[in-house]
Amino acid sequence: MRKTPTKYIFVTGGVTSSLGKGIISASLGKLLTARGYSVTIQKLDPYINVDPGTMNPYEHGECYVTDDGAETDLDLGHYERFLNHSTSQANNVTTGRIYQTVIQKERRGDYLGKTVQIIPHITDEIKRRIQLLGETKEFDFVITEIGGTVGDIEALPYIEAVRQLKWELEKNALFIHLTLIPFLAAAGELKTKPTQHSVKTLLESGIQPDILVCRTEHPLNIDIKKKIARFCNVEIDAVIESMDASTIYEVPLLMQKEGLDKVVLRKLGLKDNGEVKLEQWCNFLERLQNPEKEITIGLVGKYVELQDAYKSIIESIIHAGTENACKVKINWIHAEEINNTNVTKKLVGLSGIIVAPGFGNRGMEGKIAAIKHVRENNIPFFGICLGMQLAVIEFARNVLGHTDASSTEMNAQTSTPVINLMDKQKEVTDKGGTMRLGTYDCLLTKDSNAYNSYKTINIKERHRHRFEFNNNYKNELEKAGMIATGINPENNLVEIVEIPSHAWFVGVQFHPEYKSTVVNPHPLFCGFIEACINNKK
Ligand code: GLN
Repeated sequence: MRKTPTKYIFVTGGVTSSLGKGIISASLGKLLTARGYSVTIQKLDPYINVDPGTMNPYEHGECYVTDDGAETDLDLGHYERFLNHSTSQANNVTTGRIYQTVIQKERRGDYLGKTVQIIPHITDEIKRRIQLLGETKEFDFVITEIGGTVGDIEALPYIEAVRQLKWELEKNALFIHLTLIPFLAAAGELKTKPTQHSVKTLLESGIQPDILVCRTEHPLNIDIKKKIARFCNVEIDAVIESMDASTIYEVPLLMQKEGLDKVVLRKLGLKDNGEVKLEQWCNFLERLQNPEKEITIGLVGKYVELQDAYKSIIESIIHAGTENACKVKINWIHAEEINNTNVTKKLVGLSGIIVAPGFGNRGMEGKIAAIKHVRENNIPFFGICLGMQLAVIEFARNVLGHTDASSTEMNAQTSTPVINLMDKQKEVTDKGGTMRLGTYDCLLTKDSNAYNSYKTINIKERHRHRFEFNNNYKNELEKAGMIATGINPENNLVEIVEIPSHAWFVGVQFHPEYKSTVVNPHPLFCGFIEACINNKK
């Protein structure tokens, strides 16, 4: 257990959103863990939803699920992929959750007749949630990323809370502000004014950033760094250039080159013993950037216009491709644009396909047409959550001849509900946080594709769904060649289906993509990519 106090690093953003605060936080976390420190990263989201679980992926990208079943912001996926360490509910806090807690306390009478206000009650609850992770004594560093942009009305209570915390934590807290240095093509110049203004906005709230990370498309020369330092009251070496990178996995090395970790240590009064263990990371990057072969796979989904909706799947494919020394190109296929007539043309040249998770009717028949095609043509198939459910429906319809087979999610009246609502879900009326969420055990059948990938019988994977494989149809499906190769040992629910006579046909009820990291690429994604490579040969 640690003896020194936990250090808190607050990361804010200015000028515009989407500057990559999550990747910078994850990269700094990576550099600190490479120096032997224990680090966790937390995201504060200023929106009113209690969690992003009820949001449409078009709004907020993928909903990332933790081991403890929290539905969270997709940045937590980056934190886990970079740090190879599980996050939890405590790592993602929203305004909705803060207010919910404060209002519940008020109803219980905990405030003893006081007027409940943003300061101190909301800000105290924010401060409590930030310090929860530090109180576990597990971490040397808690990096807290504040969502949104400084100056946003919604972010004000967070900014005020961390201002107070800095005062209380004194030398154990540090502010990093991420800004944009735009390049004006007409003037041929990088412009620092937006950064100056954004630091002024922070100063108005009583916060002086210690470090500025400046996102830029062109290198910052020493004069620009001096100018920023002078106008924003930071040291020159605390002006960190953050150039656009060819892959997010390069960013920790770019930050190391700029000395971000060194400045952080110095400002927090920690010794720099110079030891940074990044060999494994550098090996990964080296393999990622120098692939020996290339394949193209298809990703069939209904949110393909917004790739953030499939963030963890994309990153899992990158990890598994790198593990197989293979560049994997993704051909995005809109589920609503496929049908039995055009499917051959749509999927031509693909070494394998993934059918993505999802909810509701839209795009369902297109996904089923794609599954039928790859099943009949021995093309590797990986179905995730809804993708697995649709593989069962396709098999029931086209192999067993139950033409009406469906999931009760899509057709409550189906005569053949091969996928139906779990009993526990039948009484549920609230939408938020009520799915089957988080980690569950699964037992694998030996010699299955799943077992050959995981190389162990006992696995744990994360879930996010309401509907399940209907065990009443298990025997009939298995007799015809679709086998359940992964079972939840507690309740007998089917977690994995496979077709052993096929090159590689695996559908999983859980979400393997949430557990793939740079250090531990996910076994099933690796197995799938390997099958795709063999198929191409
Ligand atoms: N809609 C399906 C269910 O709720 C699948 C969910 C998913 O793909 N995550 O069971």
